[in-house]
Amino acid sequence: MPGLIKILPQQLADKIAAGEVVGRPASVVKELVENSIDAHARSITVVIKEGGKTLIQVIDDGSGISPDDAKLAFARHATSKISTYDDLENIRTLGFRGEALASIAAVSQVEMRTRVHSSETGIKIRNEGGSISAAKADAPSAGTSITVRNLFFNTPGRRNFLKSTATEYKYIADVVTRFALSHPEIQLKFVSNDETILSLDAAELQARARDIFGEKFSATLLFFEDSDDYAGIRGFLGKPDFLRKTRAEQYVFLNGRSIVNRNINHAVSQGYEQMIEKGSFPVFAVYLTIDPKKVDVNVHPSKMDVKFGDESGMHRFVFTSVRKALSSHDLIQAARVSPAGEGNVSFRSEPARDAVRPASFEEMFSPPPAGEARAESPREDRAATPIWQAHNKYIILPVEEGLMIVDQHAAHERVLYERAVAGMNGGEHRSQQLLFPHSVEMTVPDALLVSELLPLLESMGFVLKIFGKTTVIVDGVPTDVKPGDESTILQQVIDLYKEDDKNIRLEPRERLAKSYSCKAAVKSGDALKDGEMRALLDRLFATAIPYVCPHGRPILIRLPLTELDRRFGRTPG
Ligand code: ADP
Ligand code: MG
Repeated sequence: MPGLIKILPQQLADKIAAGEVVGRPASVVKELVENSIDAHARSITVVIKEGGKTLIQVIDDGSGISPDDAKLAFARHATSKISTYDDLENIRTLGFRGEALASIAAVSQVEMRTRVHSSETGIKIRNEGGSISAAKADAPSAGTSITVRNLFFNTPGRRNFLKSTATEYKYIADVVTRFALSHPEIQLKFVSNDETILSLDAAELQARARDIFGEKFSATLLFFEDSDDYAGIRGFLGKPDFLRKTRAEQYVFLNGRSIVNRNINHAVSQGYEQMIEKGSFPVFAVYLTIDPKKVDVNVHPSKMDVKFGDESGMHRFVFTSVRKALSSHDLIQAARVSPAGEGNVSFRSEPARDAVRPASFEEMFSPPPAGEARAESPREDRAATPIWQAHNKYIILPVEEGLMIVDQHAAHERVLYERAVAGMNGGEHRSQQLLFPHSVEMTVPDALLVSELLPLLESMGFVLKIFGKTTVIVDGVPTDVKPGDESTILQQVIDLYKEDDKNIRLEPRERLAKSYSCKAAVKSGDALKDGEMRALLDRLFATAIPYVCPHGRPILIRLPLTELDRRFGRTPG
């Protein structure tokens, strides 16, 4: 019987392999622009027609390729970027697999013109479906220009899989946008069907972001930078009032490469903590730099997927820097109380310096002991500022720019949430010992849940003992629990914890902190005394994020004077 196994002819093998690198026009654009960047281009032009289906051209002013190398460049596994195994462990270029040009040429009609800066003459090479011809080039400018026509002309199956021109165009526009963001120092032009879509001068990141996102939106971005021994990070973060419905505008770059990495996306989102409701996504771009030895980029032919040697270390690093950036920026934009008398009292958000130091309930709702009030918010001054409670629900106060309206329940939730999380993270917690321990009868599953969550509950300030299958003895509760609620708070928290299955994918600690803060917080409808409101505001503005409640609802609304003036038909001033 004749053998069944045959070696595929080279051309067929090449076409199959090409599919991995060149899935669609956008991947051709990506590979070509990567080559231009690796060639240290200062200026790159991308020209396409019909979503790249009929024409893709990438022109650069990079190093160029010598005539001999130029022919080699189309061979499979031909690369100037690595030569040893050690190089593969230490990749500093975007390309390294030596596959792109071979793959592209296997499934299209390619023309390359290139000239190195030190030579007068260049070379022009045609490669149609893998068959090469070369000729002296007619006065090309230094650098490289590669034209790809009729992608998949010889693989109708693949060609038929292409989406509409509009869709392929969108993929390309996304790739180009990513390059524009990843390398602001490179001048970039993008032309589609003879129309100039982008024409960007070399710029700093901030200016490039403005070019891409527009003046107005980019003005709301928080730019940040951080580093430690392990890695460096910089970039920008969108504020929680400008959320998107998709992750499409979340950009992650690693050593200049656009990557897709759930671990990092997750770390950034965690950094936003509970500022954001599920289903909404912040805009961000983070630029990571790390020793190439600590990351493997050779995971997939697209090179978009990477593996970190220390995934959790990377997660921690990104999370911590984003968190720091968000909490150090003034998310509530300098709302200032204008007390009678001298000086303004700043209501700026500050790092959560109080968050780990819990206060008793009375302390929460009474002026803090002398000396504790922060220098910039002396109580006497604050006392001079009138504040009102409206409908036992909102606290209204005049601030320098106008009026601020605070949702009392959401504000208290934020305070309690941060305190609970701080306790769970090993911070100090304080319990109030109950004079008469309460015995709470629970269902079997509820009591089981309590025993599962016991360490977390204790770190928040509960003191509990479980008896048998259904009895929980409450010896102590967190100091923030309102008098009268001691016997019911545990069951309330457990009930809400169970109900909150919208957040079932959250960590138990976050879910628990949310349930607890919701149940222990003052309610809409609770009348508050003047001192209580002031204490609440003090605590609120000492939290990391006095801006949105743990469920992502706003805590405060600003009504600027300019807005009031506008509504009253007054000229501001
Ligand atoms: P890789 O980028 O993985 O090395 P490619 O197939 O993309 O593989 O390119 C093969 C080689 O061709 C590169 O290593 C590089 O030497 C050369 N090359 C390709 N494009 C350019 C360019 N625009 N400028 C200079 N050299 C280029
Ligand atoms: Mg390449």
